[in-house]
Amino acid sequence: MIGSGAGGGAFAWGLAEAGKKVIILEKGLPVAKLEENEDPVEGALRVINQYQPFRVSLALSTPAIPILYASCLGGSAAMNAGTCFRPPDHVIQKWREDGLEVFTPDYVDKLSRKLEEFLPIEPVSRDAMGKSGIIFERGIKALGFSGGPVKRNAAGCRGCGSCVIGCPLNAKKAPHLSFIPRVQALGGEVYTGANVERVEIEKGKVKGVRGTFMRGKMKGTKFKVTAPVVGLAAGAIWTPVILVKSGLRNPHIGRHLHLHPGVVAGAIFDEEIECWKGVPQSYYSDEYLHEGIIFLVGAVPPPIGGMLVPGCGIEHQRNMQEYIRFTDAGALISDTSEGRVRVMPGGLPLVSYKLLQSDIEKMRKALKILCQIYFAAGAKKVFPVHIGGLTLKSEKELDKIDTLFEKRKFMLGGSLHPLGTCRMGTSPENSVVNQFCEFHGIKGLFIVDGSVLPTSTAINPQQTIMTLALHASGSGLNI
Ligand SMILES: Cc1cc2nc3c(=O)[nH]c(=O)nc-3n(C[C@H](O)[C@H](O)[C@H](O)COP(=O)(O)OP(=O)(O)OC[C@H]3O[C@@H](n4cnc5c(N)ncnc54)[C@H](O)[C@@H]3O)c2cc1C
Ligand code: SF4
Repeated sequence: MIGSGAGGGAFAWGLAEAGKKVIILEKGLPVAKLEENEDPVEGALRVINQYQPFRVSLALSTPAIPILYASCLGGSAAMNAGTCFRPPDHVIQKWREDGLEVFTPDYVDKLSRKLEEFLPIEPVSRDAMGKSGIIFERGIKALGFSGGPVKRNAAGCRGCGSCVIGCPLNAKKAPHLSFIPRVQALGGEVYTGANVERVEIEKGKVKGVRGTFMRGKMKGTKFKVTAPVVGLAAGAIWTPVILVKSGLRNPHIGRHLHLHPGVVAGAIFDEEIECWKGVPQSYYSDEYLHEGIIFLVGAVPPPIGGMLVPGCGIEHQRNMQEYIRFTDAGALISDTSEGRVRVMPGGLPLVSYKLLQSDIEKMRKALKILCQIYFAAGAKKVFPVHIGGLTLKSEKELDKIDTLFEKRKFMLGGSLHPLGTCRMGTSPENSVVNQFCEFHGIKGLFIVDGSVLPTSTAINPQQTIMTLALHASGSGLNI
């Protein structure tokens, strides 16, 4: 197994339960976390400096889009917010219409339940939600929108708000606290700091992998693992790189990158909120999911939130003085825009992305609705986030948002969801892997991370990735 994130962890779990001997090779180090009662800012600096779990790739685009992901045991899921959504029905239906017949509603339901029971996945409790979630809920209900408390893989969460620097209580059951211990209990082995450089193929069959320990005690040592099955789950940016370096050919490797581009709005209320307390992503609305838009509260601590508050100098200072009454939320877009990961000489990824006008229109619509939700919840001021900054004092000013999208180079971009660069499909003419995630024409090579998603989904993707990986494992879990 190459990579130990959402996809790698779930695939390894399925194989281990089927009685296979599993060896997990992870480039990153064992994950560090904030300690209970540690100062969150000092703890964040300690974790980030010492263990360097985060990586950023910049997608060349207008605007340029930084893509954030993690490299550590447990992958991005170890550092994420724990939000879990089942793959949406209309998305799965589209996959079936495109020939991926295996994904019947009944089968997807069984896979989802298996994950939901094992991790487990349950809705955020009222106690852990924090005021940001409660205010967002107020806006959603005032508008009559559908939605609810987010489901998460974090039973026992106390809402300390530190998920993205490692849960101090180990409440969030990312792969290193769920799938991987189970794999080890079933006899599996885990190596960290192990960078896989190539997959070995002979006569259309996978033979194993080769690589070098980059970090930790074995640094510099080369390794080779012989195996009849290789799961590749290095994430949507790096999986195409490994395939190309292994000499594999398919015109779709690295293409069809989706990013779920997002928009964000902040708001100031009369009441005190302390948005850094409570689950960071606690409430959602799927009212517009059929149009490919999902709304999620996403409150953050002052060092990050400060970037969402408009103004310069005195004006920014004045707005920051109100931070105790500040909260923010975002909308994610199911993008039809696509990008590409190419491999540069030296083996680094070069990422590009072409943001289509149709997706910009979706973002514009989403940002207006987001501001509407906050006004409906009683906001005094709303900040649609943009390089130029903008403050709205009432719903009557919503049309000012239109001007924000006129010069796209001034838009603010960011992605936490790189997907689709080795997509699943019916033949090598349209895809890299088949509906069982096996590379077309190479027996035993399974790609099981976010790169195999055949389309964008809008929803946060970790549960969809786990679902596909569990499916690909052919799973010994009697599904
Ligand atoms: C800050 C943040 C918050 C997020 N919040 C959420 C959320 O709340 N809910 C949600 O659904 N999604 C969230 N996401 C996205 C989600 O975490 C990812 O989509 C998902 O975890 C990706 O899983 P993956 O298996 O595709 O890849 P990754 O998790 O990226 O795993 C890839 C692993 O492979 C390893 N690797 C790479 N190259 C090699 C190599 N050559 N050899 C060995 N190992 C290698 C990497 O080190 C990494 O550990 C968030 C992402 C971030 C960054
Ligand atoms: S909010 Fe919950 S899951 Fe997140 S770090 Fe705190 S206790 Fe852990």
